Amino acid sequence: MLSVHAAHALLPQGWARDVRIDIQAGRITAVAAEQPWDGQVQRLGCVVAGLGNLHSHAFQRAMAGLTEVGGRSGDSFWSWRELMYRFLDRLDPDTFQAIAAQAYMEMLESGFTRVGEFHYLHHAEDGSRYANPAEMAVRVAAAADETGLGLTLLPVFYAHSDFGGAAPVPAQRRFLHDVEGFAGLLDGCRQALRASPDAVLGVAPHSLRATTPQELQALVEMAPGPIHIHIAEQTREVDACVAWSGQRPVQWLYANADVDARWCLVHATHVDPREVQLMADSGAVVGLCPITEANLGDGVFPMRDFVQAGGRFGVGSDSNVLIDAAEELRLLEYGQRLQLRGRNVLSPGPESSGRWLYEQATNGAAQALGVQAGLGVGAPADLLELDEQHPAMQHRTGDALLDSWLFAARNGALRGVWRNGRQLVRDGRHVNREAIAARYQAALGRILA
Ligand code: ZN
Repeated sequence: MLSVHAAHALLPQGWARDVRIDIQAGRITAVAAEQPWDGQVQRLGCVVAGLGNLHSHAFQRAMAGLTEVGGRSGDSFWSWRELMYRFLDRLDPDTFQAIAAQAYMEMLESGFTRVGEFHYLHHAEDGSRYANPAEMAVRVAAAADETGLGLTLLPVFYAHSDFGGAAPVPAQRRFLHDVEGFAGLLDGCRQALRASPDAVLGVAPHSLRATTPQELQALVEMAPGPIHIHIAEQTREVDACVAWSGQRPVQWLYANADVDARWCLVHATHVDPREVQLMADSGAVVGLCPITEANLGDGVFPMRDFVQAGGRFGVGSDSNVLIDAAEELRLLEYGQRLQLRGRNVLSPGPESSGRWLYEQATNGAAQALGVQAGLGVGAPADLLELDEQHPAMQHRTGDALLDSWLFAARNGALRGVWRNGRQLVRDGRHVNREAIAARYQAALGRILA
């Protein structure tokens, strides 16, 4: 058994002093406050639970910053997607794994301790199956394993280019399955995760564009865990859904699927008040990706209405254009402040915005990723130690420390990150940084040089 002792820790019931945390097989077995340090176990400063990153496409990390040039006819999500399709034509399994490992290492260094990998790049460059049809899922699992990041694998079902079962376009050839083929992929994913005892397997119908109603039903029936779907990210998608069905995407989903707490609705940017209420009442998590949504010009989710209706949310790094747990929460709050022209506009009472955002996002992500949240008995021993010597965080305690990390600190705010009781980040750097970064650099040389 391993134990650590924290001078301060944010527990599910609030801040506590002198907290001893006992860990066995990666899980917390006991938490006791007001315990004197015995001088034997590792002594930490201020500790909070790790944050889950509920939505990622790891390979897109390598194209970050390469799509920031305007076009004569105006750039958009859809022109970005064209570039992304061309980029992924160059990815083989080794390159893919090297990029994913770099992205996962950066996630850990920024405070994310588990990722929901919304994994859709399944097949070889020409669209043919690999010898193991789950080869790329094996690579996702290997990247998570070598970095130590917790993994909730969400293999994506993708069959169509638009609503109404439209035939896929050639650029989508690496994503495609029919329902039977997808069931085989799911078996392959189970095999890929066998060596990772705390990995979680779910399913991800890519979007209402990419699945027919019958296919969606089949996927829900075969789901072994969480169900994630991209929804209502762009107004063009909303218009196309209305033209196809007479209903908006979220409205259609709730009318045609039994959406409950297993579901994570990723983006849900464009929703009307009725849809906000439906989502909140269902117990589903809305997966917000503020940096990517800003980068792609998606729009702003009606967050305050959703929160007031009792909605649950978490954050994801999605395109990984910038990987930063604090920045996701900061931008989530700032987008709302800009739109609502007020300060501290989300937290319902007179409480710290940082504390409220952090707790809500930690709980929402844990639900969406199929694991227990918080520093409690039975939860994974995923811990962050804030650096109280960081210039932005000195002479602060409790909520003010969280506020200062999320709103006022740049890099280096985390001293250590533990996953399943193992310390993976020391003084802000991943313990295998050099090797992972060198392999990433070589991979970029192959695809971009
Ligand atoms: Zn996405």
